[in-house]
Amino acid sequence: MENFVTQVHDSKVLVIGAGVAGASCALMLARVGVAVDLVEQRQFPRAKVCGCCIGPAGLEMLDRLSLRQAAIAESQKTTRWLGSFNGRQVDMPIPDGIAISRKTLDPMIVSAAETAGANVTMQCTAELQFSKLQSDDLPSADDKLVDVTLKTNASNENRTYSAVVVAAGLSANRLDKWLPWQQVPHGPFGVSLTVANQPDTTVLPGVIYMACDDDGYVGLVRLNESELDVAAALCSGSAASKRGTPLQRIQRIVDRSCFEGIDLQTSSPMMTTPMLRRKRLAGKGRIIAIGDAAGYVEPFTGEGMTWAMQSGVDAAKLIAHVIDQRDEWCSLGAKWTVAIDQQLQHKKRLCRLVTNACRSHLMREAAGITLARFPSLATPLLSSINRI
Ligand SMILES: Cc1cc2nc3c(=O)[nH]c(=O)nc-3n(C[C@H](O)[C@H](O)[C@H](O)COP(=O)(O)OP(=O)(O)OC[C@H]3O[C@@H](n4cnc5c(N)ncnc54)[C@H](O)[C@@H]3O)c2cc1C
Repeated sequence: MENFVTQVHDSKVLVIGAGVAGASCALMLARVGVAVDLVEQRQFPRAKVCGCCIGPAGLEMLDRLSLRQAAIAESQKTTRWLGSFNGRQVDMPIPDGIAISRKTLDPMIVSAAETAGANVTMQCTAELQFSKLQSDDLPSADDKLVDVTLKTNASNENRTYSAVVVAAGLSANRLDKWLPWQQVPHGPFGVSLTVANQPDTTVLPGVIYMACDDDGYVGLVRLNESELDVAAALCSGSAASKRGTPLQRIQRIVDRSCFEGIDLQTSSPMMTTPMLRRKRLAGKGRIIAIGDAAGYVEPFTGEGMTWAMQSGVDAAKLIAHVIDQRDEWCSLGAKWTVAIDQQLQHKKRLCRLVTNACRSHLMREAAGITLARFPSLATPLLSSINRI
């Protein structure tokens, strides 16, 4: 962050969404003196569909946010990965990572952003206004600012910003008009739940469990002595939905795996996501998207939050650079599209390869046989995905 601006400017930036991406971006902007509003439609702490695992690259990102030690203190260390491919067990050591509840991590980053000077408003929904912005055209030179309506229970307030960072996750709302989603048909959808009082003899602390079969995959990890996080990506479509409720399908995948005695029936309410595989142009004019909002690829070993934090930090750097160099704000979107493509596309492609392979019966069979005997064969792939 050495190149960050040091002087105070009159530009103001809005970050929409206080998940890991938005909060990281707001934190880094505030640290270098950029005036930033961070708005979040929900009240925190909030639950979120997530496997809650962070690997070494994610810890490195937390380090850059100066939150590594705080996150470690609130988490469970993970050192082992136990996979079940068509019921065949693969057991491998993994570099130290953590399992941390999103109810803990997200407010931690938001609070750091607020301490650094970001103006945070919870339970506030942002809507981009299109009176000046025409969705088919790039903004013209007259489009000096982005018009936004901020809606809270108390009021609807119209404000203008020099630039807007969309960190709204997978949500589909009026933000999509400017950066429309392209959804890949027949993609999976995400489900997660927290199970309380799961005996720690069935799901061991420090181990990431992943059961893969024809219906999708389920990840399980212990968050602390009493709570177990369960996250799954299940096949979509009418044939798949006839297999039962998401919870029944998750339980069936776990029952068919080599993990024994895991009962998920005594669980909290379940959360689901929209279809997961989707992409969009990451930036246009003064508006850029970061984290899941920039295009989603199913994570496999805990990459999602790492990429989200990384894109938040990198977007903050780019915005600071634009301010510092007095570049045209309208060039921000194009610059960001190139930057995010360079940083993440290779990793996302690798991840898609792995998750696609997990959906093929034959590939799972081959992976199960090979990795059960030679687990170290997975190391180059994991390190490549996890490198920052
Ligand atoms: C099944 C599953 C398992 C996963 N497991 C892992 C894992 O183990 N490890 C990992 O690293 N990643 C995992 N991920 C991915 C990870 O959850 C995401 O990549 C990460 O949460 C992205 O963060 P984000 O900040 O971009 O979005 P989010 O965390 O979704 O945050 C977006 C925020 O924006 C807010 N918002 C939306 N619209 C508006 C609006 N108009 N105004 C104001 N606020 C708004 C939302 O309320 C939300 O709080 C998993 C994902 C799935 C689906």
